Amino acid sequence: MKIKVKPEFRGMIALNVHPFGCRQAVREQIASVGRRGKFAGCKKALIIGGSSGYGLATRVVSAFGCGADTIGVSFETGVSGKRLGSAGWWNNIWFKEEAEKCGLVARNFVGDAFSREMKDEVIDYIKREFGGQVDWVVYSLASGRRTDPADGRTYTSALKSIGCEVEGATIDINKKKIVTGRMAQASDEEIAATIKVMGGEDWLLWIEALAAAGVLARGCKTTAYSYDGPKATRAIYGGGTIGAAKRDLEAKGREIDRIMKRLGGEGFVTVCRAIVTKASVYIPLLPIYVSVLFKVMKERGVHETAVEHIYRFMRDMVYGNRRVTDDEGRVRPDNWEMDPAIQAEVERIMPQVNDDNLETITDFAGFMDDFLKINGFGYEGIDYDGELDSDELARYRY
Ligand code: NAD
Repeated sequence: MKIKVKPEFRGMIALNVHPFGCRQAVREQIASVGRRGKFAGCKKALIIGGSSGYGLATRVVSAFGCGADTIGVSFETGVSGKRLGSAGWWNNIWFKEEAEKCGLVARNFVGDAFSREMKDEVIDYIKREFGGQVDWVVYSLASGRRTDPADGRTYTSALKSIGCEVEGATIDINKKKIVTGRMAQASDEEIAATIKVMGGEDWLLWIEALAAAGVLARGCKTTAYSYDGPKATRAIYGGGTIGAAKRDLEAKGREIDRIMKRLGGEGFVTVCRAIVTKASVYIPLLPIYVSVLFKVMKERGVHETAVEHIYRFMRDMVYGNRRVTDDEGRVRPDNWEMDPAIQAEVERIMPQVNDDNLETITDFAGFMDDFLKINGFGYEGIDYDGELDSDELARYRY
């Protein structure tokens, strides 16, 4: 079937994807690492949630920065009829293609990372075909639901505030207007469910399973990504249900560190900077905050894309000697975002943003550009008016 694909959205949900735009996105990330150069780091990496956002960036830096073989686990959908699959589906395919061109192993597992079966399958593969051990395990899942393998119950996370209802302005991207959304107060059950989905339980289950199977190399390191954010987003992020889940992630991180230390390695939570991803645009206030933040960071020459951010994090803070940590032992590559001078400027601009100045006093254009690019739109050199053949695309294998 021949189809034309144009960017279409329902709210913040992308309704279609351009497979060759996604190829461009993956290639640009690889080129960005290529320009920065190689450094000594991991050799065998397992990225859980490796098909988009920070997980994909980590996979790209591991492979093209450190020369590592990689395993990526993700939950994505392929081509079916007129639907051309999800961006992450294509990112997996293109990443593998590029890695193999360089003689690197790139194995994709597509399915539910929360399940016991997925853990067993990955462990079995590491033992049989991946050299027996991994030395870098990154947990970068962002999900709205999780079925707990212990009792088979499915939990759904809630993006809500804790303690009181909160108003949060966000951007209607179709109308380019500010809209005020209300963030309802979470019930205790909703807080607990969000912790179940986005907390640290599953990261711990992965590490326990990998350690018990003997597939963690001596000196292996593991991290999970978190976000802290400034005062501007505190009521919605840090102080809300998602923040509660991240505190749980940090608590589990300390348990994980004890397991890793026995293997001469380490486990820690990494607080990353705010970027535009499939997951982050849902969070009220974040689109406005990010648009202002991009403007300020770009003006001061300290803006980083996801892959640039992860490159600096891995080179300097994981495998180098320029690690920045906080009082709780979290690693803080978000130090540039949280720089008091940057935040003071963001705080000055944020209250002034309205429909008329959205495109002048913020970098809304940069936000939109990144948002479109997640799904392969807005790249030069891609013929967006041309037709794609879905039957041909369905033949690609990850
Ligand atoms: P993303 O949506 O781009 O990626 C999420 C990944 O999780 C994808 O690879 C997806 O396939 C995978 N996934 C989801 N459910 C799965 C399942 N059941 N089984 C297997 N794979 C599954 O998200 P992101 O923004 O890169 O977020 C990754 C992590 O980084 C999150 O923990 C997030 O809190 C953190 N983080 C994000 C930001 C930001 O601004 N985006 C900032 C700091 C930290």
